[in-house]
Amino acid sequence: MVTASGMSDERPYKRILLKLSGEALQGDLPYGIDPAMLDNIAGQINKVHGAGLEVAIVVGGGNIVRGSEAEAAGMDRSTADYAGMLATIISALFLQDALERNGTTVRTQSAITVTAVAEPYIRRRAMRHLEKGRVVIFAAGTGNPYMTTDTAAALRAIEIDADVLLMAKKNVDGVYEADPFKEPSARKFQTLSYLDALNRRVQVMDSTALTLCMENSLPIVVFDLRRLDSIVRVAAGEYAGTKVGDFETALEEAPAATT
Ligand code: UDP
Repeated sequence: MVTASGMSDERPYKRILLKLSGEALQGDLPYGIDPAMLDNIAGQINKVHGAGLEVAIVVGGGNIVRGSEAEAAGMDRSTADYAGMLATIISALFLQDALERNGTTVRTQSAITVTAVAEPYIRRRAMRHLEKGRVVIFAAGTGNPYMTTDTAAALRAIEIDADVLLMAKKNVDGVYEADPFKEPSARKFQTLSYLDALNRRVQVMDSTALTLCMENSLPIVVFDLRRLDSIVRVAAGEYAGTKVGDFETALEEAPAATT
């Protein structure tokens, strides 16, 4: 059966955690946040939320500041990372605004204290927001330098007991046996075990994040944000680039077209 929002009501997930990198919000711009991309993403999240799913989001900030890059330019690493965490708060405020313009109630929680603009991260409160039908955005990553928002996404997903971690990628539709842009015959993995993902050092997420997922059996779906309505379809279980989890590793039969 299909609901008014166009989503099937045989849904595989009740509570999802969506990881949006800063790059995803950047769209085709060289820096910052692309308003058209933001609207598109917010519209899709509203649809998913409107269909009754509980939605939590971790946003990145690499579109504004990336700690490792600032360090390479001579900045103290921890200070650079705190600047990076502040960048994620900027991303979160833009996303919050775009979602609320579409009529969704949102709460942003930050892992570092910025009480003028966001609630502090309080796990039980975040869970309550989700139960009450509010979208929750987690900003400032884990709150610690030398960490990434991928690790924050894995950590928060586990903490709030999400059913799945949805990893939006900008230009690639999952995990391939080799770089599909260099080797067009490379096949995509339909499913990938955690250990194979770790051993192959695939670009799904950093190894700290992946290890957290593995140790807590949190399934990950890697998908291409550029595909039409991909967030809606992936949340409904109708599309998945590659699933990483307690699965046997399996390749697709034929090379899949890259977008
Ligand atoms: N960051 C951090 N600790 C965290 C999360 C992020 O120090 O727990 C900093 C780090 O400098 C990072 C920046 O914030 O480069 C932006 O986050 P990230 O690179 O993960 O964003 P994305 O690549 O998803 O846009």
